[in-house]
This record gives sequence, structure tokens and C-alpha cells, in this order.
Amino acid sequence: LSHAKQLPGMLAFYQQGQDESHQRELTILRDLPAALLQNQLFVVYQPKVELGQRKCSSAEALIRWVHPELGFVPPDEFIKLAEHSGNIALVTEWILNTVAAQLALWYQQGKHITVAVNLSAHDLTNPQLPSDIAALLKRHQLPASVLALEVTEGAVMQDPKQVIQILTELRTMGIELAIDDFGTGQSSLAYLKQLPVHEVKIDRAFIKDIEHNQDDALIVSATTQLAHSLGLKVTAEGLENRAGLAKLQQYHCDKVQGYFFSKPLTSELFSEWLQQFEDQSQEWFGQEISQ
Ligand code: C2E
Ligand code: MG
Ligand code: MG
Ligand code: MG
Repeated sequence: LSHAKQLPGMLAFYQQGQDESHQRELTILRDLPAALLQNQLFVVYQPKVELGQRKCSSAEALIRWVHPELGFVPPDEFIKLAEHSGNIALVTEWILNTVAAQLALWYQQGKHITVAVNLSAHDLTNPQLPSDIAALLKRHQLPASVLALEVTEGAVMQDPKQVIQILTELRTMGIELAIDDFGTGQSSLAYLKQLPVHEVKIDRAFIKDIEHNQDDALIVSATTQLAHSLGLKVTAEGLENRAGLAKLQQYHCDKVQGYFFSKPLTSELFSEWLQQFEDQSQEWFGQEISQ
């Protein structure tokens, strides 16, 4: 009976927690469109390092928002909300424009970096997407090869026929396509073969303990082999330490992205990181594991 007494209090506590998170959601949804216009959001770039050549010529663009009252709002949180509320098209348009402007600057400086932008499921229902992107590239006088796009398995599964059509158009334009978070969704590599993509990104869940966890190591090794035999490149997401790097080299993983090399950086810091990496890339790999 003692907990019967506690129950009303617990309910009130639970209710209050729910109200707070509901309030937070409403604030995020209310403020996002204006925040985009006022440039409260910004983009950070995380290097993708090529293991074979030990160089970096690409990065992933990740969106950041510091809300005036809420502080840092993680992208996972506000992207999901924007998807449900129909605001995601605004976010995608904003990030594509911002990245294209940055790419144009880098391109003029002779830095030929390919930047990958994440698309949401909803973006892949828009048949105008390829022509919108073509117009954007033209406006910034950029070749299609500087832009890459990342889509999740789930986004493809919602309407495979239409999504494959859109992806095929993008690929024909010369844009690099990757399947993101691979291994966390429903699809198999056999299914991926039907998708017009160049690359699979193995989810961080399989990479983070790869040096200790024999199952994860097997999954990454087998996935890499199979992806290669299907003509796909492999990027490992979320590498944090050198022991994991040695495994990924051993499995002939093509590219690595993770805190081991760098956290996502502002465009200025990314340029600096790139310069340093070019000057001393051997030191990152270390003597003992070079093959
Ligand atoms: P994602 O596309 O899979 O991006 C990789 C996430 O892993 C990023 O989180 C990145 O900061 C994080 N990460 C990379 N290396 C490491 C590591 O070594 N350790 C750990 N702990 N984390 C690492 P972030 O920036 O919080 O983004 C989360 C997700 O939000 C992204 O996952 C993507 O799905 C979504 N997202 C971010 N920016 C955008 C965007 O502009 N548009 C859309 N539609 N989604 C975005
Ligand atoms: Mg991604
Ligand atoms: Mg991912
Ligand atoms: Mg993700």
C-alpha cells in the first residue's frame, strides 16, 4: 500500500516531465524557421580519411544549432521534429545552400574537397530534388563531383521505386551517393546492390568497440568484403582510437571518419586541420601499424 501513496506524486512528476519535453518540442518547432533565416545555425565539417592513400579529400557536413534559451540542440532531436512537422525541406535547403557557398570558396582557393550532406527521408520524396541541386551547383559554378549525399536505408525503404529514380538522376549528374548508418536498418547488402550508390557507411555501433568485440570485428570485416565484391566503397563511422584503426586497415576499409582523426570542425578549423594532416599524415598512422 505504501506505493499507492507515492503514486499520485510520481504521476505528477511524470506529467511534469512530459509537459516540459512537450514545451521544448514546441519551442524548437516554433523557432526553427526564423533561426534558419537569422543564421543561428551553422555547419561543421568532419574529415573522412582515405586509408589507402593516407589523405583526406572529403568531409561530412553536420548541422549545428545553439538556441538562445535552450542552448545546444542536437541535430538528431530537431531534425526528427522538423521531419514530422514538414519543416525539413527548409533545413535541407539551408544546409545545401550553406555548403555550396563554402564549397565555392574552397574551390576558388584550389582546395578540391568533396562534402557530403545528409538527406532526410522526406527529401527523397521530392522529384524536384535533382534539378534543384543541379541549379544550385550551376549558381555556384561548382562541378557535381564536389557534392556527395548520404541517405539512410530507412529513407530508401519508404518508397524504393521513387527513391531509386531520384538517386539514379543524382548519380547520373555525377554526385557521390552513400548509404548512411549501414547495419542498423532492415536491408541487406544484396538489397543495396539494387541501389545506385557508391558507398556504404558502416554505423558507429559496429566500430566503437571493434578492437575488443569479436562479433563487431567479424561483421565489419565481412561487410567490407561483400561491399567490395559488389563494387561499393566502405567508410567506417565513429572511430575513436588507434587500435580500431589497425583493424580497419587490416580489413581494407576504404575511408574512416571519427573522433580519432577529428571531431566535426567549423570551416576555418577544418581548413587548418587539413593543412596539418597533409603535412604530417604519417604521424597519424604510426610506424607499428603501417603495412
Ligand atoms: P550521421 O549522419 O550518421 O552523422 C554522424 C554522427 O556521428 C555525427 O553526429 C557525428 O558528430 C558523430 N560522430 C562522428 N564521429 C564520432 C566518434 O568518433 N564518436 C562519436 N561518439 N560520435 C561521432 P551529429 O552531428 O550529432 O549528427 C547526428 C545525426 O543527425 C547525423 O547522423 C544525421 O543523421 C543527422 N544530421 C546532422 N546534420 C544533418 C543535416 O544537415 N541534415 C539532416 N537531414 N540530418 C542531419
Ligand atoms: Mg551522415
Ligand atoms: Mg551515420
Ligand atoms: Mg545517424
